[in-house]
Amino acid sequence: MSDDFLSQPLQFVKGVGPRRAADLARVGLLTVEDLLLRFPLRYENRAGLTPMAALRPGQTATVVGEVLSFGIRPTRRPGFRLFEVVVRDESGAVRAVFPNQAFLKDVFRAQQQVVLFGPLEHRSGGLQFTNPEYEIVRGDAEDSDDAHVHTGRLVPIYEKIGSVTPRMQRSLMHQVLAAMPEEVDDPVPAPVRQALALPPRRVAIEHTHFPPGDVSVVELNAFKSAAQQRLIFEEFFLFQAGLVMRKRRQSSTHKARPVQVDDRVRGAARKVLPFRLTDGQKVALREIVTDMQRPEPMHRLLQGDVGAGKTIVALLAAVVAMENGFQVAFMAPTEILADQHYMTIRRLMEHSRFRVGSLTGSVTGAKKRAARAEIASGTTHLVVGTHALVEGAVEFRELGLVIIDEQHRFGVMQRATLRAKGQHPDVLVMTATPIPRTLALTAFGDLDVSVIRGLPPGRQPIRTVAKPDSRRDEIYQLVRKELEQGRQAYVIYPLVEASEKIDLRAATAMAETLQSDVFPEYRVALLHGKMKSDEKDQVMAAFARGDVHVLAATTVVEVGVDVANATMMVVEHAERFGLSQLHQLRGRVGRGTHASTCVLVYQAPLTEQGRARLEALIETTDGFLIAERDLEIRGPGDFFGTRQSGLPTLRVGDLVRDHILMEEARREALASLDDPQQSSALMAYLSTHWAERFGLVDVG
Ligand code: ADP
Ligand code: MG
Repeated sequence: MSDDFLSQPLQFVKGVGPRRAADLARVGLLTVEDLLLRFPLRYENRAGLTPMAALRPGQTATVVGEVLSFGIRPTRRPGFRLFEVVVRDESGAVRAVFPNQAFLKDVFRAQQQVVLFGPLEHRSGGLQFTNPEYEIVRGDAEDSDDAHVHTGRLVPIYEKIGSVTPRMQRSLMHQVLAAMPEEVDDPVPAPVRQALALPPRRVAIEHTHFPPGDVSVVELNAFKSAAQQRLIFEEFFLFQAGLVMRKRRQSSTHKARPVQVDDRVRGAARKVLPFRLTDGQKVALREIVTDMQRPEPMHRLLQGDVGAGKTIVALLAAVVAMENGFQVAFMAPTEILADQHYMTIRRLMEHSRFRVGSLTGSVTGAKKRAARAEIASGTTHLVVGTHALVEGAVEFRELGLVIIDEQHRFGVMQRATLRAKGQHPDVLVMTATPIPRTLALTAFGDLDVSVIRGLPPGRQPIRTVAKPDSRRDEIYQLVRKELEQGRQAYVIYPLVEASEKIDLRAATAMAETLQSDVFPEYRVALLHGKMKSDEKDQVMAAFARGDVHVLAATTVVEVGVDVANATMMVVEHAERFGLSQLHQLRGRVGRGTHASTCVLVYQAPLTEQGRARLEALIETTDGFLIAERDLEIRGPGDFFGTRQSGLPTLRVGDLVRDHILMEEARREALASLDDPQQSSALMAYLSTHWAERFGLVDVG
């Protein structure tokens, strides 16, 4: 019954009509519920009447009184007319002018009671409202219960939608709320509502749009009123419940067989290990292997700061899988990284009985066919590659574990496609950058999370300094000092898609200058994404061997590149990079036992944001702290990059502002789905509403 009310198309609501309906539809408002779940931008307190005799210029006030006179006044500007009305109460009178709104002559009537709200100014010898909010108080009309809508109360301010003004929306909202049934279905189960003392849904909706007089406007504008919080909670709760539900469906599938771990497996793992694992690595590995021993497929996210040593943990998991007769796919986001992983892994696995292969987009022709055949026959046990690995016709004999060394590029959906390959393999996702917990719960809410705390022993803290471009000599001096001690350096140049050609030219020119003018006695090489892949490989390999001393590069080295002898990172135009990106770049140094330096070169003057970013980076090297700051500065959409973010489209909640509610919602969603009394209604609601509300793939 109430669902019928909420699902009514807006088009058929009185006063909407086709034109406004089309405008509303353009921003995704199709039904009455869509409209009701659209929060005001902000609120204004228009309650509290001021007697007219007490009005002062500069003040923003609400007055109520009787229309004394009104009319249109011509002005000196041709065609420009003012509508003017004078209103009085027992104490005095005030004038209001409305530029270019002659139609108001048909709205106002003498002796009418009206409310005016707005700022006052001193004009042409008296106090005046210019363009105030107005409201005609009708004692007689049958559709008015004398309630104030636009003035005389806490008033919602909406964002204009095409032809639908904030004022129209307010009227529409008021009208729809008046027609709303006493009870509306509540997707949040009663026990959850009780436990968290949440107001009923209907009350929450009403009070969000027309708050009662005792709510503070400050609280409303922070979106912290009980009513608003309840609707935000609802949104988060449903989102999390959907994720949990999907995850449970997945885990009701079984993989080919769980892995077994015995002394032989442990011994094989120990053999590839070149150092002792840190405690943090051990904890993470234990969690991963425990998952692998379960009958349900693993879906786990491995987090750890830059340089925490995620690769070896993943490789040990791979050894466990291979010892159990499974094949492993190891995916990297770029070819450079895939090649680097391939090299590292091949070296570590040299003395094992397993064969390591590689497959990237640049492998073609007969080589590609051969690589594929070896994967299909099972001759290749571990294959390292890019997305090419899961696309198209690659077939495995028995794929048991997929490792994704990703750069947030895989959303919830892409992971689903991947799982469809193979017989429900275990999936381990590694993130290149630490992700703030709220976002992890959202974009990766269907994954379990392991976090590697701390860094491997012997690391020296990286010194970070910011220097203006004008002090280039000093900067090169710092680089030279490192080179003289046998160390190596990166010099990074920004490359943005919009000005790619110019940027590339600039990067190339910089590499040439560095070689010919600045470091003629050392070898400088250029690396960028547009180079052929074997060229890239050669340059990277030469740098890894130490034959190249200075690597001038674009952000192709941003993630994962691992050369321990490199101790100097110079980032040109640091002001153009995001915070997490700078943290990643800085993470290319400080990987060995030598002290490292990161120089952020900026073009003065810095913007406020630019300065905030550089300061944050100098202050801390803790990637988790930096990620939180980045999220605050940039907002969630930009944090992941807009494309394929895997983030849901939220209507009322804000991942940064409301992050505590997200945690609460997660907890409650888990509990509700575990409670047979609550779960069936909730699951039924989700299967009809989830996809449409969050714009993600279905929960099924
Ligand atoms: P990330 O977590 O950023 O992917 P890597 O896996 O590339 O980090 O590891 C960074 C570097 O630290 C590598 O050179 C790796 O060999 C080294 N490393 C990892 N774990 C340890 C450890 N327990 N002891 C010493 N060195 C380690
Ligand atoms: Mg890595």
